[in-house]
Amino acid sequence: MADQVPLVSVVLGEAEERLVLEVLRSGQLAQGPKVERLEGLFCEVTGTAHAVALNSGTAALAASLDVLGVGAGDEVITSPLTFGATLNAIIKAGAKAKFADITDDLTIDPLAVESLITDRTVAVMPVHLYGLPADMTRIMRLADGKGIPIVEDAAQAVGATVEGRPVGSYGLGCFSLYATKNVTTGEGGIVTTDDAGLAGLLRLLRNQGMRGRYDYARIGDNLRLTDVQAALGIPQMEQLSTIAESRRRNAQYLIAGLQGIPGLELPSVPEGRFHVFHQFTVRVHGEALLDRDELASELAVAGVQSSVHYPRVVFDYDCYADHPQVEVGDVPRAREAARQVLSLPVHQHLSGVDLDTVIGAVGHLLRA
Ligand SMILES: *Cc1c(COP(=O)(O)O)cnc(C)c1O
Repeated sequence: MADQVPLVSVVLGEAEERLVLEVLRSGQLAQGPKVERLEGLFCEVTGTAHAVALNSGTAALAASLDVLGVGAGDEVITSPLTFGATLNAIIKAGAKAKFADITDDLTIDPLAVESLITDRTVAVMPVHLYGLPADMTRIMRLADGKGIPIVEDAAQAVGATVEGRPVGSYGLGCFSLYATKNVTTGEGGIVTTDDAGLAGLLRLLRNQGMRGRYDYARIGDNLRLTDVQAALGIPQMEQLSTIAESRRRNAQYLIAGLQGIPGLELPSVPEGRFHVFHQFTVRVHGEALLDRDELASELAVAGVQSSVHYPRVVFDYDCYADHPQVEVGDVPRAREAARQVLSLPVHQHLSGVDLDTVIGAVGHLLRA
C-alpha cells in the first residue's frame, strides 16, 4: 500500500521542529506563551478579538454551549451530515439536538433551520463541511432577527470565508487541530469570539474555573492545550494562506480533469464563499458505471485512497436511537448524500503525478 496516493499527509518542517525544541528546552510544557501566540494567530485569521485554545475541537463545541448557558430543555439546531462530535457536544450540554436538512452544497439549509426554530432554540450550530462555509449570510439574518446565538462547527474550515468575512467570526467559532485537519497539532481546539465576556468564561472553564490560584469562580474542567502542541500549530497558521491556496489549486485541477463523467457530481462552490478544501468530495449518482462503494474499492486497487464522510446521517446509530435528546427529523437530502459522497485526495502535499493518478483512475473506472 506504500505507493497509494494518500488521502491525508502530515508533513512538519524545520520551523515546527525549532519551536517544539524551544518548548522542550524551556522546561515549560503546559499552557504558556506558545498557546498565547497560537491564539493570536487565530484572532488574526478570523478577525476576532479573542481566541481561546482548548485540547480538542469537541471540547471547543461543548465549552461554547456551556458558556452560552445551554442546558436541559433547550434546543440546538445543527446539520445531520457531520461528525459525531457535533451531536455529542449538544447531548453533553443537556440540550436536545434538532436537524435541519442540507442543500445541494451539503451544508445546512437556512429555510430548514427557520422551520425548526421554537422559543426553546438557544443556538444554531452550522457545520462548515469539508472546508465549505455554510450559507452564513442567510443564517445570520435569521439568527440575528431572533437573537439566537451561533456556534460554528468550523473544525474543517480554518481560513474559509463568506463574502470576505472569515468563518469563526459569526458567533463562537469552533476549530479543531486534530491530526487530519488542514492545520494540526495532533489534538487541539480553538474557540474564537468577539465577546469578551464569553472568552473570559471559556478561559475559566478550561482551567478548573479558577480566576486566580485556587480561586474558584465557577465549576470548571481541565481543557488546556500544551505549549508543545501549540508550537506545532504556529508555523502552519503562519502559512495558512499557502495551505489553502494549494488545496484550492488542486481542487481546480481535479475539477477540470473530472469534468463530464456520467453520474459523477463534482464539488461546486456557491457565489461568495471561499472553500478551503479540507476534503474534495464528489457524489456518485445512480447513472454512474459503479456505485459509490464499488468506486471506492476499485480506486484502492488502482492506488488511490478515498473515504466516505459520512456513511450515514449522524443520528442514524443505535446509541442515538430513541435518545430523549435526539429529535430525529425528516432529512431526505442528507440521507441521499450519505449514500453518494466520496472524498478524494486534495491535500497540499500531492504532486502533479498524484493528481493525474486520481483523475486517471476515476476516469478509467467511470468513463464508458
Ligand atoms: C474533527 C471534527 C470535530 C471534532 O474535533 P476534534 O478535535 O477531533 O475533537 C468536530 N466537528 C467536525 C465536523 C469535525 O470534522
